[in-house]
Amino acid sequence: MGRERERQILSRRATLKCGVASAILWPTCMKARAVSREELSFVIVTDTHLGYHDNNSAAKLWQKTAAEINQSPGSLVLHLGDIVDGGREEQYPIYLESRRLIERPVHEIPGNHDPEDLFRRHIREKTSLVVELGWLRFLLLNNARRDSHDGFLSDEQLTWLESECEAAKRDDRLVSICMHVPAHLNRHPDRGWYVKPGSGHDEFNELLQRYQDRVVAVMHGHFHNGIRGWNDRHDVHEICFPSALYNLNRGLEEKSAPGFNPLEFRAGYTLVTIRDGAMTLLYKPTGSELSVEKQCLFGKAT
Ligand SMILES: [Zn+2]
Repeated sequence: MGRERERQILSRRATLKCGVASAILWPTCMKARAVSREELSFVIVTDTHLGYHDNNSAAKLWQKTAAEINQSPGSLVLHLGDIVDGGREEQYPIYLESRRLIERPVHEIPGNHDPEDLFRRHIREKTSLVVELGWLRFLLLNNARRDSHDGFLSDEQLTWLESECEAAKRDDRLVSICMHVPAHLNRHPDRGWYVKPGSGHDEFNELLQRYQDRVVAVMHGHFHNGIRGWNDRHDVHEICFPSALYNLNRGLEEKSAPGFNPLEFRAGYTLVTIRDGAMTLLYKPTGSELSVEKQCLFGKAT
């Protein structure tokens, strides 16, 4: 589907929803200045795992996905980690070659499959980075380690997040925090991989509480569960995005796990649009039509 066609679909969907939008609550700081928060859209892709099972199928799928992302709307692209599988260094140049198909800025964070030294060598020297998009600042940081599925936030990283949230407050910007491993306490039947107490959990939770009106969303990869999310902590949306290689249906909604997990488990990428007081996640399985649409409201649990 061409970019123009996707735009038409998006704008039609927005029109259908405008009656709803007027009733949506924004985070306090957004509500006060909603008129100046213009529409933003961007693409999230994650967990490409090039070299998976020691064959080139992940690389081929990434090439196809990158070509489709190039035809999609969205001002920039974020890759939320696990670029390659199992630290396979020879896969980074292959990843970068297909990435060149995307004629827009692409910003990556490392995942637990991306050794930090290889990420620095092939992708970007800095592993903590601020990316600006209009009134929104993405705070990108590496909370993954090669030897664990859990996440880790150092005192230095927590201080950096705090100072960036303060800077955003001064500059009348909102933020989205991007790190591969979720910080949300996702108990059984969920994965249970998160930033645990002793690894920055409590400090991050306090930070979210302090800046709940500053943080539009906390965004992750890592789960391979389709669109998996919650907003049961301080009304902040915490979302794990679908893998561009494979996703598994773990029956979370059937098992009444907290949060949401729409039934779409094909590989692909997500177009995120923030407009009229709501954030819409529109899922695009690679090689297929636009699929699940999840609307995230601000200011109340969904
Ligand atoms: Zn991972």
